[in-house]
Amino acid sequence: MKIKKIETFPLLHRLSAPYGDANGFKKYRSCYLIRITTESGIDGWGECIDWLPALEVGFKERIIPYLIGKSASDRLPLIAVIQKWHRRSAAAVSMALTEIAAKSARLSVCDLWGGKWRDLVPVYASFQSYSDRSDWIDHSLGLVEQTLASGFTMAKVKIGGRAFQEDLSHIQSLQSMTGERMPLILDANQSYDTAAARKWEKYLSKWTNLLWLEEPMPLNNLPEYKLLRASLSVPIAGGENIKSAEQFLPLLSTNSLDIIQPDILHGTGIEDFRDAMQLARHFGVKVSPHSYDGALSRLYTLFAQASLSPWTKMDKENIEPVEWDVMQNPFSELVPLKPFGGHVSLPDGIGIGIEINQDLLDRYRWDGSSYYE
Ligand code: MG
Repeated sequence: MKIKKIETFPLLHRLSAPYGDANGFKKYRSCYLIRITTESGIDGWGECIDWLPALEVGFKERIIPYLIGKSASDRLPLIAVIQKWHRRSAAAVSMALTEIAAKSARLSVCDLWGGKWRDLVPVYASFQSYSDRSDWIDHSLGLVEQTLASGFTMAKVKIGGRAFQEDLSHIQSLQSMTGERMPLILDANQSYDTAAARKWEKYLSKWTNLLWLEEPMPLNNLPEYKLLRASLSVPIAGGENIKSAEQFLPLLSTNSLDIIQPDILHGTGIEDFRDAMQLARHFGVKVSPHSYDGALSRLYTLFAQASLSPWTKMDKENIEPVEWDVMQNPFSELVPLKPFGGHVSLPDGIGIGIEINQDLLDRYRWDGSSYYE
């Protein structure tokens, strides 16, 4: 199982119209895939996200020369080295070597991990609500309406990027459009302090369809989070930018959040990501993984969620939902999976059980030109 070849696929798409959250507008989407092939011809795909020139130099000049000739079965020791150089690149290598291990054992990824608890995983439509249009509220409502018609049942929208009254008007309009029947998540991307976050409580306490309030404040002040959590009527979620399972421990051990949201692309790989999910189970905290960038990483996220024990014995829907990016992003099609009725049915063939759409790799290949603002 020696590693023979590693190909890289840096992909870039410039958006026709920017969209964003409280942190600003996005003008492009990027994706970085790798394919590792062994001497015996078994291949595995991996994915990471970062500035493409940095990833290309890192892989071409350091990671690929290091991996060639190494045993693909030594996934954990190899990742332990690469994560010291570049954490996000290690995530891609961990996915590719996991697929190779599964394929060589003639197992699906979930079977390799011990088996699935479920074949269907719930997903919510994730929106970037802000645009540079003066009618951004109507535009946002239109997007939600259209997406609900295409088979989603739950949604996450943004707050915290405009004045309170303007954001409130957006959410009130959305609630009246859906009759407060659509399960809804509000994400402030760490925009508020405690007092500003509490201004929402009057409304949160009336709306019965809210799943959670996401990252109302910067996550570095856990005592404030604990205070806020005690004073709001809805669960609080967060942690998408946390870089390792270990870093979730302070959040979990102080009961600062109701739901943690690890992201496979922001840590050191699939094993660490699954550790964070399991830690949440040990602490009795819910886990709804963040999965904004990357269709392959979303697939691994769904595999991990399908392989996680139920959070409750009481509900029929005993697993937390996974994020599904519904904004303009051609890389969403790299893994041809479509949600239906608010759920995704997981492939269960050998390895990842589904083919990467390789037409997109040529069409969107980054030409090496500068793309930051
Ligand atoms: Mg978020």
